[in-house]
Amino acid sequence: MGFIVPNRQHRKCSQQFPGPGRKQQPKAPYAPDNNYMSSLAATATSVIAPPAVVLPPARSLERRAVAATLHCLSVDVEEYFQCEVFAGAIPRSDWTRLERRARPALELIAELLARHRCRATFFVLGWLVERLAPLLRELRAAGHEIACHGYAHEHLARLSPRDLAEDLRRARSVIEDVLGLRPRGYRAPTFSVTRRTAWALDVIAAAGFHYDSSIFPVRHDRYGVPDAPLLPFRVVAPGGARLLEFPPLTLDAGLLRLPLGGGGYLRLLPEALFHRALQHRQRRGQPTMLYLHPWELDPDQPTPAIGRLSRWRHRVNLEKTAGKLERLLERFTFDTAANVLQCVVQQGALPEFTLAADVTTSK
Ligand SMILES: [Zn+2]
Repeated sequence: MGFIVPNRQHRKCSQQFPGPGRKQQPKAPYAPDNNYMSSLAATATSVIAPPAVVLPPARSLERRAVAATLHCLSVDVEEYFQCEVFAGAIPRSDWTRLERRARPALELIAELLARHRCRATFFVLGWLVERLAPLLRELRAAGHEIACHGYAHEHLARLSPRDLAEDLRRARSVIEDVLGLRPRGYRAPTFSVTRRTAWALDVIAAAGFHYDSSIFPVRHDRYGVPDAPLLPFRVVAPGGARLLEFPPLTLDAGLLRLPLGGGGYLRLLPEALFHRALQHRQRRGQPTMLYLHPWELDPDQPTPAIGRLSRWRHRVNLEKTAGKLERLLERFTFDTAANVLQCVVQQGALPEFTLAADVTTSK
């Protein structure tokens, strides 16, 4: 194992959310250049926390909102063997006999979040909910958001609308039964809401989700809607359903869009690029979505036989993820997707983007 988190430290993640009082101040002074944050502070006490969370004192909460609550850190809770890259190498029937390794990585993430007084959104795979129930309950008790990553981690391009509806029903059912909550947010495996799978948005909305975080506004071989907005927007599905959409961090670099987002990009690209991007957005009052997976903090995980490029993409810099995450948490404050979106919505109308279906593309 790459790390062991002692129980003594792990217990901290279920303690009262400590508020920002002793959080290390960002190294760069925070200087908003619009009135987004001042109006955010006025509404912070009413919108930041879900009722089940033990709140810090109102004054601290307000200061926290003013300091920074625009950034969302999300974790796609899945085992390494459930990654899309292994879909052809590891049959689903093997999942139950393989060693599960996500728990210590999640405990480490929870410990880092508690140490730096940040909250995150955990998009949990239904298959893992029953197997990680105590830890997920602790995460919720610590103020983190539990959202949905589907049940069986199927790329949406392999599903029919009826298959997806059943996958979502099963995932919601296990989350409600085991954790006693109704998830508000959904993220498709491998960001697989594209023009080809645009129908999925109608199914996701019909399943009862309020927001989605499955559209990556880039061009990529496995996912992406290259012309989607870079900041949160209302997405209109082909059948007319509307959802809030929170896309992962992407930079507009002239003719190109550079995906930062998290995951392999966070492991591969220079750390300073992420810090500059978050600072840039923070100054403009623009929200940011980052993501990672527990297996990205597990450099000792086994790697099944796959192609050389895929292996490299999956394994590059796994040993650096924890350090990069900790330095982001030191410098910036993160909150849940639900909280950040609620603040954004209260600031006024969001742009609308219609995801027209296109069955001729390869994605
Ligand atoms: Zn996933």
